Amino acid sequence: MDATQLPGVGMVNPVAIDVDRARAVVSAIVDPEIPVLTIADLGILRSLEEEDGRVVVTITPTYSGCPAMGQITEDVVTALARADYQAEVRMRHDPPWTTDWITEDGMRKLDAFGIAPPTAQHDVVCPKCRESEPRMVSFFGSTACKALMVCSSCGEPFGYFKRF
Ligand SMILES: [Zn+2]
Repeated sequence: MDATQLPGVGMVNPVAIDVDRARAVVSAIVDPEIPVLTIADLGILRSLEEEDGRVVVTITPTYSGCPAMGQITEDVVTALARADYQAEVRMRHDPPWTTDWITEDGMRKLDAFGIAPPTAQHDVVCPKCRESEPRMVSFFGSTACKALMVCSSCGEPFGYFKRF
């Protein structure tokens, strides 16, 4: 039975799914905790497919302790609903996400935002003055993903996106 022939069935009229368009919509969603980074920048978008008239988005969480994933799930569903697509978000934990999946573009954006991008801890530089020996104040900063550092040269506090 084809739902398109049944008036009034379903909240959203089935539309042909343009996977590229859906991907563009999803890729542009920003991380709620680090709003300079999109889902594409973070490298957490594993796949996006059409399945039974819906868009099925598979995401690998940045890591289990990050409460942002619930928000991201909601944002994906909402953004696709605005594009007239019904969506389902699935989580895939294997293989686990690592900061190596952050794109070059994402690394640049983090730095421009004043967050030291993930790198070996002894390679962290102050995003403000480029001093290379910041001091770690707290292993857990404003979010579990970040440590709080203080520059030993200019005194600027900044987040360091921990590499893992
Ligand atoms: Zn500095």
